[in-house]
Amino acid sequence: MSPRTSMANPLKKLASCVILDLDGTLLNTDGIVGDILRGFLSKYGKQWDGREAHKIVGKTPKEAAVVIVEEYGLPCLADEFAAEVYPLFSSQNIIPKGWNDQIVMFEFSNLRFLEAAKRLKKEPSSCLVIEDSIPGVTAGKAAGMEVVAVPSIPKQTHLYESADDILNSLLDLQPEKWGLPPFKDWIECTLPIEPWYIGGPVVKGFGRGSKVLGIPTANLSTSNYASLLSEHVSGVYFGWAGLSSRGVFKMVMSIGWNPYFNNTEKTIEPWLLHEFEEDFYGEELNLVIVGYIRPEANFPSLESLITKIHEDRRIAERALDLPLYSKYKDDPYLLRCSDSNCNHL
Ligand SMILES: [Mg+2]
Repeated sequence: MSPRTSMANPLKKLASCVILDLDGTLLNTDGIVGDILRGFLSKYGKQWDGREAHKIVGKTPKEAAVVIVEEYGLPCLADEFAAEVYPLFSSQNIIPKGWNDQIVMFEFSNLRFLEAAKRLKKEPSSCLVIEDSIPGVTAGKAAGMEVVAVPSIPKQTHLYESADDILNSLLDLQPEKWGLPPFKDWIECTLPIEPWYIGGPVVKGFGRGSKVLGIPTANLSTSNYASLLSEHVSGVYFGWAGLSSRGVFKMVMSIGWNPYFNNTEKTIEPWLLHEFEEDFYGEELNLVIVGYIRPEANFPSLESLITKIHEDRRIAERALDLPLYSKYKDDPYLLRCSDSNCNHL
């Protein structure tokens, strides 16, 4: 049994195979869509801010073009927009050659899932579909399959109610819920991930961490990291934190959506697991993030949130002693200093 399933975990309907959507589920194409539309719309003096993203996820290219031309009041026809923009997607090489035709044949209807079941020689009722879009979830259910939704658009889970389960990300998929073999890479309530690196001066946050929660986080400015953060799903992570003048510390952190930015910007809030005598605003903080603990969640009370954060801290502190994670403590990135005035090294 996976370490995550120590609590009661009801078995859902048994499945014998999994059909994974590609676009937006296996591939992080939403970031690419944002980059391309941002560049294109700026030519018309418009700014892509992601607010219309939920209106185009799961749409055909034609439907999406109509939405964008209308929403942004572009002085062109949807067909002209499509003719100019879609070649930009092809140039990104995000879809393996030869797949396009097969995908276009069945995309956006339940036929693609029925065709997949036929090729797998399985009954539709024994297939588990994993989808990121609302039309995809609807199509999976219309095909008579079990459907797990991994919504591309944050904070819109209420729109995916027809799905049999809704996950924050594929990191939280538990195949054993459908009688499939569990993933074996979870260790001590943590999932090792490919390490990623982020750093910069510590900035003042909203003051919530220290004053309201009693948990002082060292906030990083994410202005230079928007695309890096878009690659990482929201949730609770852990790793090592380096302050060039003070040393290396264990760290647990949340990545999430800031409602003040209308869900278009993620924030990152690392909690250095050490008692510091004073603030260190402006100091260079470098992080190596090595593992994942859990998705973001809502809590019924402040107390239950604080209890959960302390549980996250205990999980991170213990896990970081495992050789699998402790080896990153010596990563030279942690104590590097990009500031030219910095002479600690
Ligand atoms: Mg999709």
